Amino acid sequence: MADDNGRDNGTSEAPPIRDAPDSPRGLRRELDHYRLVVEEMRRRIRDLEGELEAASAMAEVPSVVVTRPELRNTLGRLVKKVAMIIQAEKVLLLLHQPESGTLNVLPPALGITEEQVNSVTIHAEEGVSGSVFQNRESVIFNDALNDPRTLKRIVSLLAIRNGVCVPLVIKQRDEEERLVDERIIGVMHVFNKRFDEDFGTEDMRLLEMLAEQAAAVISNAQLYIQLTEEKEQLAGAFEAIHVGVIVVTSAGVIRLLNPAAATMLEIADGEYGGQEMGDVVPEGHIRELLEGTLKTGEERTVEIVLGEDDERVYQAQTTLMKREDQGGIESIVSIFNDITEIRRVERMKTAFVSTVSHELRTPLTSIKGFISTLLEDDEGMYDEETRREFLIIINEECDRLTRLISDLLNISKIESGRGLDLQLSDVNVARLIERVAASHQPYTKKHEIVAEAPDDLEPIRADADKLTQILDNLVGNAVKYSPNGGTVTIVASDEDGTVRLDVIDQGLGIPERHRDRIFQRFHQVDDDIDHRSISGTGIGLYLVQHLAHAHGGKVWLESSEVGEGSTFSLQLPKDPEKALEQRGE
Ligand code: ADP
Repeated sequence: MADDNGRDNGTSEAPPIRDAPDSPRGLRRELDHYRLVVEEMRRRIRDLEGELEAASAMAEVPSVVVTRPELRNTLGRLVKKVAMIIQAEKVLLLLHQPESGTLNVLPPALGITEEQVNSVTIHAEEGVSGSVFQNRESVIFNDALNDPRTLKRIVSLLAIRNGVCVPLVIKQRDEEERLVDERIIGVMHVFNKRFDEDFGTEDMRLLEMLAEQAAAVISNAQLYIQLTEEKEQLAGAFEAIHVGVIVVTSAGVIRLLNPAAATMLEIADGEYGGQEMGDVVPEGHIRELLEGTLKTGEERTVEIVLGEDDERVYQAQTTLMKREDQGGIESIVSIFNDITEIRRVERMKTAFVSTVSHELRTPLTSIKGFISTLLEDDEGMYDEETRREFLIIINEECDRLTRLISDLLNISKIESGRGLDLQLSDVNVARLIERVAASHQPYTKKHEIVAEAPDDLEPIRADADKLTQILDNLVGNAVKYSPNGGTVTIVASDEDGTVRLDVIDQGLGIPERHRDRIFQRFHQVDDDIDHRSISGTGIGLYLVQHLAHAHGGKVWLESSEVGEGSTFSLQLPKDPEKALEQRGE
């Protein structure tokens, strides 16, 4: 029996000898014959050694590879063995990518640089690789340059002389080792037989053996890697979400408890899977909910309030996971959504509506009262000066109403997502702060309102009405929250090409814990009786922040000391349009 290369595979008998064994010619023939036999036996031994090595290489390959680096290492060892056994200079694995319809390199390759690897992309239908992939039959080519089947761009890129390409096939066998399914995932190449030799069918057979092993490793690893990565992603998502998740089996054993749930239960963050629910979840509303759901088999949605001082509200929902076969409960999945903030804003909104109604009614009552008094004074009971005082109060109250309504209108614009349109003009800031100070002064006798600005302060582009509104709010607060009086100073200055405005008071100050929240809508300091007894809506600073932002500027609480006063600062660009453009708005 001879193979493709005309070599005897060693199973046939030695050729017969015709000449008489004792003639010199006969002896030479006999000698040649035995030389052939010896050579053939040597070759067989080499092949057997190869097979033995291939078999032992395969035995060394771990059957379970679970991570990408492990797969890379295992394949690295495998391609080295392949190169050694087949005596090839280069080894390359190509995997089929169904999405792109290409055969892409699966690293690591042997004898091929990273750069070369990156330039190899082969369509699943072209060249030797494509035909091996399509036909699932191995190919040997010993003259790469002239063989019509080879891709010349790859031949020259990888400096290929000759090669063998075999399919990477995953074979599924039943218990009796019968083939039940076959799936092709790519191809394996060896290039450039060492010592300038050609590749033969024995090489191909060995490579097919090794490729079967490689295919099994790759497919198992891919399956594991996909599963572990999916599991990790899922676990990562559970870890990261802010929603508390607790999964408990019907036997009351924790299957999952994520960090958000641990925080909610005020227990240490850790791995609770496998532990009894009773040992982990402290007694209380949550345990009652879980136990109740398990007992009754009814899904629930309830609101749970936890904590005493720092109360937190959760919307809890339990869902039953049924067993597919008998329909019984397998586990319950409970989700806890922290809705403290939503409830807080809801409460604030309700309070806001009543505050605003109150804020609107107070000046109206006073206006109506004074007008009625004046109208009813037919007999001239009040002298000219008293009448004038009444009119001043009416005027003040009308201003208060106008400011409040204008704040409300702007808030509704912001809330509905409509922008605060600016009517820009050149504004003389020094004059504007003087006007604001002067407009507030008549309303208070306890305060002195001062405006300070350098003589050379340049005008800025701004919406004069909105800038007035910002300062009205800040100065109004400074006066309002200094019930014992004092000086309120508005300071304008030039700062790095912008204009800075500071509104300084000597009033109640703001407690530390409120400082970063006072710009939130409806937020009001409610710690002390002084703050609480001053009426307000909690929207002024929220609006100020939006108006400053609309100008491309910012506002912040520069400093505050309880009982000693506060300084609010505002920074405005000289040209809002340019500033907003730079900010990408
Ligand atoms: P309000 O209508 O309640 O004054 P603001 O949004 O203007 O609403 O202010 C929010 C809260 O910040 C106020 O309720 C007050 O508690 C506090 N606050 C604002 N300005 C000052 C200030 N100058 N001094 C002390 N507290 C202040």
